[in-house]
Amino acid sequence: MPLPTPAPPAYSPEDCAICFESLHVAPRDEEGSSYMIDDVELYCNNGRPNNHHFHWSCITDYVKSGGDRAKCPLCRGHALDARGRMIVGVTNEGGVQGGVDLGDIIDEEIFEESQPESWRLEQAFLGLMAQCDYAEAEELLRDRGVDVNCTYPTGGQTALHMAAMNDDVEGVELLLRYGADKAQLDEAGWDALRAAREVAAKEVPRLLA
Ligand SMILES: [Zn+2]
Ligand SMILES: [Zn+2]
Repeated sequence: MPLPTPAPPAYSPEDCAICFESLHVAPRDEEGSSYMIDDVELYCNNGRPNNHHFHWSCITDYVKSGGDRAKCPLCRGHALDARGRMIVGVTNEGGVQGGVDLGDIIDEEIFEESQPESWRLEQAFLGLMAQCDYAEAEELLRDRGVDVNCTYPTGGQTALHMAAMNDDVEGVELLLRYGADKAQLDEAGWDALRAAREVAAKEVPRLLA
């Protein structure tokens, strides 16, 4: 006599509906001693309190690896809103947030992951410059060969445009040291000097003239 198929583990709304482990996850570092919540609530047509919940990485990996985002992985309930968007509620260390367009975030991540390594390094460099983290930004220029004239994803601005608009002398000097092109134009047709003047920057125009 064949053995009965084992019943799937019982789902509790405290658990992830993919890996069936607790949504309360251990803190990443030693400092925060209490457990954190990592919860994505999918509005899978069950209505509260019966919606299914997931770890952020479980549900995003599921969709990225080809899972049908229109359906809940557990109950197969319809998971998109009237406009076809995958809207979820998120609770994690950043707080509680409703109405998060997870499909949009996943699409952006898929795009980023499909880009070459050089593109990712450029975006990291631009992010560091925006945060005035010069030591790390310089490391990428010096050791990783990042193009100092690379541009942000929209608007065509370089790190030099950004530093110019922040009237950031240290940033501008660093970029010029690495050969930033003062004449490079953004999509509005502005060079860094024009961008600096537009925001009435006081210090950097002398470096850019
Ligand atoms: Zn999980
Ligand atoms: Zn469900």
